[in-house]
Parts: sequence; C-alpha cells; structure tokens
Amino acid sequence: MTTAKEKRFPLPLSSVVERKDNAGRNRIATSVSTQTAIQNLGRDFQSSNRSAPTTDHGIGKQQRTEILNTSESPLVSEAVRRAMVVRIAQQGVKDGVVLEAMRAVPRHLFLESGLASQAYIDASLPIGHHQTISQPYIVARMVEILRNGNKLDNVLEIGTGCGYQAAVLSLVAQNVYSIERIKALHELAKNNLRPMRIANIRLHYGDGMLGLPQVAPFDGIILAAAGMEVPQALLTQLKVGGRLIAPVGGRQQVLQLIERVSDSEWSSVVVENCHFVPLHSGII
Ligand code: SAH
Repeated sequence: MTTAKEKRFPLPLSSVVERKDNAGRNRIATSVSTQTAIQNLGRDFQSSNRSAPTTDHGIGKQQRTEILNTSESPLVSEAVRRAMVVRIAQQGVKDGVVLEAMRAVPRHLFLESGLASQAYIDASLPIGHHQTISQPYIVARMVEILRNGNKLDNVLEIGTGCGYQAAVLSLVAQNVYSIERIKALHELAKNNLRPMRIANIRLHYGDGMLGLPQVAPFDGIILAAAGMEVPQALLTQLKVGGRLIAPVGGRQQVLQLIERVSDSEWSSVVVENCHFVPLHSGII
C-alpha cells in the first residue's frame, strides 16, 4: 500500500424521523425527495412483501426475485424487520438501496428456530461452529461503504457463514461470489439460500484468503472475518477503482476501507471500530 491516511467517517444524518400520524400510529417520514428505501418502508407490506426491490442502482432483473415468504409470529414479522431498518438508518446508514435490501431479506430464516425471535435485534448471533451471523447494522454499513452509491457488478464475500449477507449483497450487485472455509457452514448457507431462489449468488467452499482468481477482478470485496491484515491476494483481485471493506485486528478491530487507485497503488482509511470472528487460513 502506498498511501495510508486515517480518517473517521462522520456518523451522518438522520433523514428519517418517526412521526405520529393522525391516528397516533408511528409512521415513517423522510426529508429526501428521491425514492428511498425509507419511503418504501412506509408502503403497504402486502405489495412490498412479494418482491425484492425494484430500485434502479445495481439491481438486475434476475435479482428481482421473491425473497420473502414469511409473516408468521410478530417477533419475525415484516413490521419488526422494518423497525430494524429504521434503527439502522438512525445509526447513520443512508443508502436507500442498502436499506431496502435490509428490509427485503428475512434474517430470521438464516437462524435456527430457537434464535429466530431474536433475529431483528441489532446483534450478532451464533450459527454454530463458533461462528456468528453478523450484526445487521454492520452488514448495512459495510455494504453501504462498498457500494458508495454506485452500481456493483462483481462482488466477492469472504466468510459466507449462514448466507445472510450474501442475500443482502444479491440485491445490490449483479453477481455475488461468496467463499466459506467451513464445509458445514457452506452447506448451511446453501440450504438457507436455496428456497429463496436467488439467481445471482455463487457459493464456494474454500479458503477465502486466496480469493477467486478465476473470477477476478472484483469491483467490491467484503470480508466477514478479521485478519491482522488484509490478504495480499484480495488486494490484487480488486479492479482499479474497486473497493474492499474488511475488519482488521485481533481483540481490537477496525473496519478498514481499501481502494485500488491504480495498478500498483491502494489507499486505505479506517472507518470505525468493529468486532468480528477471526479470519483463518485453510479449510475444514
Ligand atoms: N457473512 C456472514 C458472517 C459469517 S461469520 C453473515 O452473513 O452473517 C464469518 C465467517 O467467515 C465464518 O463462517 C468463518 O468460518 C468464515 N471464515 C473465516 N476465515 C475464512 C476464510 N479464510 N475463508 C472463508 N471463510 C472464512
């Protein structure tokens, strides 16, 4: 890396406010005029429940797939998920495409049934094999940073886990490749994602530290596990102009954003503190 400046992203905005309507119910209002996910959140569930987002940026036809098939218990309902998205927006995530993707993906379906009722609290939760499903806020934040308001073509995720973030990514990118090193979790993700019939996710069992040279270059790479540094192979598999977002560190970790500036130059900034499971080499 030839440049390394450290900068804190502002924890921005709240274009989202909760207001009471005439009947005293909470409703969601937004100060922005363009169509945003937050506006979508205010729509009738019945219509938005049936299809994934149709917003323009980065969402291909084949991705407008039905991703939801749920509305069972109040603890896992669409309303609870919308409330989660409002909290994420209040924490500073403002990319409407990302917020809409967070609204569309049924996180509880990626958890074992005993944990499903906790799916929409803002926490990481166990998925077995000493691994976790990432906290919703950090998923949204990382995807927002990766997107940077742009359409994404090929995105690589390291650490599929249960497949949740891959499903979110599938709504903001044309093609999602995701690598998992634990065979049982690779299988779990396959089983979780299969009923959702998402056409643009490719799951790979392997060591993500090596990337996927056969598919590279990627315009976005996202790591869901923290190494002491970002693996070199991943840096070289980024397109010039592409972005990589990764947790870096041991007990103390930071979210690092790396951009490939030219063939031989990468820039790096620290975004905020974070906490992820460790990145390990090899497969099991
Ligand atoms: N993406 C998940 C988070 C999974 S937790 C979500 O949607 O919530 C991080 C995952 O990274 C774990 O499943 C762990 O096994 C995996 N992992 C760690 N090191 C890896 C490596 N070198 N290659 C691929 N996966 C790795």
